Parts: sequence; C-alpha cells; structure tokens
Amino acid sequence: MTQSRGKNWAAVVVAAGSGTRFGSDCPKQYALLQGRPVLDYTLTTLKTVGPIALVVNPAHQAFYAPVAARYPGLRIVPGGATRQDSVKNGLKSLMDVHPDYVMVHDAARPLLTSNALLRLQTAVEDGTRNATLAIAVNDTLTRGNDVIDRTGVQAVQTPQAFPYALAMEAHDRTSKNYTDDAGLIFGETGEDISFILGEVENFKITTLGDMDRAGRVLLARLPETRTGLGFDVHPFGERPDSGMISLFGASIPSDKSLVGYSDADAGLHAITDAILGTIGAGDIGVLFPPSDMQWKNADSTIFLHKALEILHDRGGILRHVDIMLLAEEPRIGPHRHVILQRLSQILSLPADAIGLKATTAEKLGFIGRSEGLAVQAVATVRLPA
Ligand code: MG
Repeated sequence: MTQSRGKNWAAVVVAAGSGTRFGSDCPKQYALLQGRPVLDYTLTTLKTVGPIALVVNPAHQAFYAPVAARYPGLRIVPGGATRQDSVKNGLKSLMDVHPDYVMVHDAARPLLTSNALLRLQTAVEDGTRNATLAIAVNDTLTRGNDVIDRTGVQAVQTPQAFPYALAMEAHDRTSKNYTDDAGLIFGETGEDISFILGEVENFKITTLGDMDRAGRVLLARLPETRTGLGFDVHPFGERPDSGMISLFGASIPSDKSLVGYSDADAGLHAITDAILGTIGAGDIGVLFPPSDMQWKNADSTIFLHKALEILHDRGGILRHVDIMLLAEEPRIGPHRHVILQRLSQILSLPADAIGLKATTAEKLGFIGRSEGLAVQAVATVRLPA
C-alpha cells in the first residue's frame, strides 16, 4: 500500500525505554495488549514503510526477541542513555540503506492506523520536507491559575518524517537535549515542521490505565466474532518413564503415556485446530504433517503458537477457549490450577476466559475401556471487518 511510492523510506522505532511510570515488571512496549505485545502492533503497521531499525535496551532481549523474530530483516539496534541518543543510534544503523526519508516512531503508540501513516507519507511525497502527526488540544490549559491561550496549540505525536540526511546531520551536530525529533530538527536547522492530522487514538501508552484504554480501542476495531471447533484423540501406551505426560501444555502425573508423533498433547492439538478453524486456515495435520521428521516428539506449544501467529497475521485476536476432556484417566481435577495457569500463559488469556472441564465415558467405548483419551475445544476470536 505505501511502498510503491516515489521516495525510499526507512523507519526508526524507539523501544528502548524502561517504562518506569508503568508500574509493572514488563516495559510498556512489550506488555500484552489483547494477547499480543504492544510492539507487535506497532511493527505490523510500520512494516510497509521500508527497512526498520528497532532500537531496544539489550537487557530486554527476552521481551523483544520473540516479537522481532516475526519480522525478517528487522535491524536490532542498542539504545542510548536518552530517547534522543536512541534515535541517533537508529539513524546511524540505516547508513548503508541511506533512504531519502526516515520516519521516527514510538513503539508505545501501537494504535497508529495505516490511514494516519499514509497521510504523513503522502504529505512528504507531495513536497513537505519535515512532518509530524499532531492533534488539536481541546481541553483548557493552565499553568497554576493562569489559563494558557491554546490558539494554535497542538499535541505532537509520532511518527515524524524527515529527509534522512537532514536528520543525521542535525542529530550529529546538536549538543542539546530535545523531547522529540521535530523539535530537534526545527531547533537545529530552523526548517519548518508541517503538522499532519494525527488521531486521538494514537496516544502513547504510559500507564496501566492506558493499556486498558488501548485494549478497548483495539476491540472496537475488531467487529467480527467467529467460533472454531477442534477435536483430537490419542491412544494410551505404557507407563511413561517419568510418570508424567504433557496435557494442555502442563506436565501431569499419569500411569499411561500418550502415543503420537509429536508429544501427543491432544489438549493443545484440539485447541490449535479450534483456532485454525476460526479463520479457515486448515488443520494441524496440514500445517505440521506427521511425515515431516522435524515434528517427531515436538513440543505442541509450537503448533499452538503458530496457529495464534496466523490469527494475528489476519489482524485477529483470541478471546476465549472452552475445552472438554473425555477420559477415564488421568483425573485432572487435582491439577486444574496448574493446567489453567499454563494455558493462560500459552494462550495469553485470563484464566476466566478458559473453560476447562472433564467427563468420563461411563466405561463405554474406547474411552471407557481406557484405551485412549479425547479432547474437544471451541475457540472464539475477534477479527477486523
Ligand atoms: Mg493429535
């Protein structure tokens, strides 16, 4: 959509902040927003722009690496002491690309729409040299008791776009600290900045309250609800050496092993198929054929994560799963808490959005004879219109 334009673009995404105002162990740019890291939304929107330099704090590797892995060609750049130093590092890392234009964006603004992005890029393509998204300020502003005249006052957002050479030169030259790059470019070069209409929803996530608000905005952008169905059976084998089996991603005690090509976790297989079913993405056997040696003894969380990734690539999010285990054994009641905790972690869902139930088959059929177990699952997702 935006890449077939006249100028070469690249982007710097600033994600090096520690988010100390956020009141959580996880920096805000990596916190889960409807089951996906904030950064993931940001990169999805920006990936059409061109090469991206993602500026991070290397100490956050456990947070950024899984997200970054989904974006081939992403340049991971260590941040500096300030936001400005981080942007400078990002700009420098693009020297071999030397784009005509560079866009600087905060990772913690995940709700940027492609429309707003396009407005900014179009302004530049049409001849504007320096531009930032900004919105009018509607509230009365005061300093102490003094009301500030808000005529012409705007709240500045990101992304901001500049000629790459100009941004490099200005960043190299300055010894002052600026709060944003539009301010830096104006302060150092005197060149005008054009203010392009931003969006109220393109706010920077700073507090936990912002996360709640972002979650509501996101959900409102996903009007379609769909449900998918999954079902799986695995036979029992001999007692496992460890005395444990993998079921629903948890390790639980069992007198009998589960037989299968992968780790035979029928629970995760049923959930995977239920998720794939919501978007018509085939089934687990199509995506991960048992004829492929690499899936031998594989950890089934791989399959589930792949299904979630496909859902996310379609712009969807998982909202709920409901699960029924049909088995004479093992009894999962005593392990319910552990299983729910594990599923909550794998699915990025709150425990109250996971239904976990079990029934026996009253000694009827293969389940009743304890020859194996079966799992049914239903998944509910939200998708863009
Ligand atoms: Mg299976």
